[in-house]
Amino acid sequence: MPLVHTRELITAGRAICAFNVITVEHAEAIAAGAEAANRPAVLQISENAVKFHGGRLGPIAAATAAVATASSARLSLHLDHVEDESLLRQAHAHGFTSVMFDASKLPYGDNVKATAEAARWGHEREMWVEAELGRVGGKAGDAHTPGVRTDPAEAAAYVADTAVDALAVAVGSTHAMTERTATLDHSLIAALRDAVPVPLVLHGSSGVPDTELRRAVTAGMTKINVGTALNKAFTGAVRAFLEAHPSTTDPRKYLTPARAAMTDTVAGFLRMTNV
Ligand SMILES: [Zn+2]
Repeated sequence: MPLVHTRELITAGRAICAFNVITVEHAEAIAAGAEAANRPAVLQISENAVKFHGGRLGPIAAATAAVATASSARLSLHLDHVEDESLLRQAHAHGFTSVMFDASKLPYGDNVKATAEAARWGHEREMWVEAELGRVGGKAGDAHTPGVRTDPAEAAAYVADTAVDALAVAVGSTHAMTERTATLDHSLIAALRDAVPVPLVLHGSSGVPDTELRRAVTAGMTKINVGTALNKAFTGAVRAFLEAHPSTTDPRKYLTPARAAMTDTVAGFLRMTNV
């Protein structure tokens, strides 16, 4: 079916999972997992994934959009963790209806200024704009910052000053965790939910156990970002296949189980957060 606007999925009153696309197999797995779970999902492409594709947004965006429109699931395209303003300005032309503009490395005042400008630009194009306050940490090149938390009063002021449509908050999760051992600060989630008038986004959800994630969703965490869990499934399946079949040369042989493993992971997250 045609691409859905991210705003429609986020404001439908249920939690929505957003999965990171790196290869076409990721996109296919996300679409298949959404179909299997009979749930909508967001396909998101990060600035780092665009860098992996030679800095060109067009080809991977076009492939992802084609996979999404060929699916029977309700899917949207989101551009994730954009720091480069020239990439931000390509989003609309490539079918993205939402973008996460990440100025979280900047001091507070500079973050507000840059994000307000990004939000203004996005809103002129009917786009939905997410930003981050308090560093979630753990992205490639980041210092590990597990102790950082978003302050509720500062978050409320930030949303008012930037006019963003959703806010990524630091409540105990960290990007790129390969074990699901994160403990979330549930009282902080509740305080943020009370203080902030827009949907809250949890980054680094791959490292959060099921029970913690369901509690976070119940407490009002709306967008659940999942990347590493797919890559763990993908790489684990490739590794197992190649260990068992060391003479294989046809990539379809190992990408088939890798894609199937990601599909199962996607469906699992979609079912588990359906509370
Ligand atoms: Zn993130």
